[in-house]
Amino acid sequence: MKLVFLGPPGAGKGTQAARICEKLSIPHISTGDMLRSAIAKGTPTGLKAKAFVESGGLVPDEVLVEMVRERLSNADCANGYLLDGFPRTVHQAEALNVICAPDTVIDVEVRDEKLLKRLTGRRVCRQCQNTFHISQLENDKVCPDCGGELYQRKDDSPETISNRLSVYHSQTAPLIDFYTAMGTLKTVDGDDEPDKVTSAILNALGC
Ligand code: AMP
Repeated sequence: MKLVFLGPPGAGKGTQAARICEKLSIPHISTGDMLRSAIAKGTPTGLKAKAFVESGGLVPDEVLVEMVRERLSNADCANGYLLDGFPRTVHQAEALNVICAPDTVIDVEVRDEKLLKRLTGRRVCRQCQNTFHISQLENDKVCPDCGGELYQRKDDSPETISNRLSVYHSQTAPLIDFYTAMGTLKTVDGDDEPDKVTSAILNALGC
């Protein structure tokens, strides 16, 4: 199965993608995670991406298209993929159609005011990369799953979040019409308990 998860930052795409990938045995490809890792390692892609990621803007299309083209050519993508965070512009979606078009695009919908609360309270584990909301944590410094150190992403500050949301509405939301026209879009309400969202996604996929 070749899947794309669309939806604003904070919609829960990463959490849901990890669950769906485990169930379907396909790789979870998060372009945000790939860029953060490239930045941490100081690779040429990381150096190009750093300022864009930190300000909440989009990294140029050509950098992303090349990164995804290379990743999708790996052997683990032979039976499909789940792309989380890509495409984010119509140009990227057109490029993906040429590389390896998705069968289904899941749009995870959540209102902006809920997104702001989710993102400002988000903490990520440096070790296992799991994400939590501070309301779920007794100790906001230690990962309850693996004991790793929790941190707040730099781009989860209130100013950067509002930039990320406006970039989403202007550049990424047009993909809803793009994939509706292709007949591949399915919409899921992301403003619900995580287990219910997972069931709704599996239902939309006919699994
Ligand atoms: P995410 O983890 O998906 O929220 O992505 C974090 C940041 O990485 C975004 O705010 C962008 O700066 C950058 N990024 C991730 N995916 C893309 C993409 N497909 N196109 C451009 N920039 C991206």
